Amino acid sequence: MTAEPRALSPSRLAWRVFLRNRTAVAGMAAVAGFLLLSVAGVLLTAGNHPILDPREVRLPDKLKPPPNPNLPIGLHPEVTRGEAIVGGWVGVVLHEAGHAVFDIQKIPRFGKEEDAADQIAAFMMLQFGTDVARVMVKGTYNLWRHMYGMSGGHQAGHYAGVHSIGAQRGANYLCIAYGGEPAALKDLADLWLSDARKENCANEFKQVQLAFRKTFLQYVDEAQMAKVRRMAILRPEDITR
Ligand SMILES: [Zn+2]
Repeated sequence: MTAEPRALSPSRLAWRVFLRNRTAVAGMAAVAGFLLLSVAGVLLTAGNHPILDPREVRLPDKLKPPPNPNLPIGLHPEVTRGEAIVGGWVGVVLHEAGHAVFDIQKIPRFGKEEDAADQIAAFMMLQFGTDVARVMVKGTYNLWRHMYGMSGGHQAGHYAGVHSIGAQRGANYLCIAYGGEPAALKDLADLWLSDARKENCANEFKQVQLAFRKTFLQYVDEAQMAKVRRMAILRPEDITR
């Protein structure tokens, strides 16, 4: 008499079939990985003293307005929506272009790389006439004021960043611009800079101008530069919409 092979229970049979299906196993491993990651994310960002700051790592927290309603968010009363968009956007592009030229031409930087990129961007904003300079400076100031507000103001982690604090960056742009165009930007400097800082702005502008002449200018086609500087950069409708 031969023994009947022991029948597998339906659940064991299903498990065995599942294990033979590589795609299904890989899919389950991926789901388990995501589940673990999300549990770890919740654990690391929970509580009053989380290991990771939720505002640094979680998108919904990054986009949440700061708890302090006095922090500046959105449009400054003196800045139009068009100025904020055009000036803020061009300011960022000029900052990144500054990094690119530093890197490509191996231009030496003394001090913080990010401050140097802000300085060259502020200097570039002044090269296309007073009207363009005002729009760029206002938009850039508004952008950094807003980013400062969104980041929650003074928080210890921000001091460890490679950039200056948002509020400082806005003031740095304005100060260099005011130093270069004092008559055209006096009203903005009176509004947004302290008297002590205003006194130093002419020197800050001259320092950047000297650095530009000593490092950047040798790579610039001066005839082409003169042509570009005569171009109309902004149409009125660019900033009124
Ligand atoms: Zn940068």
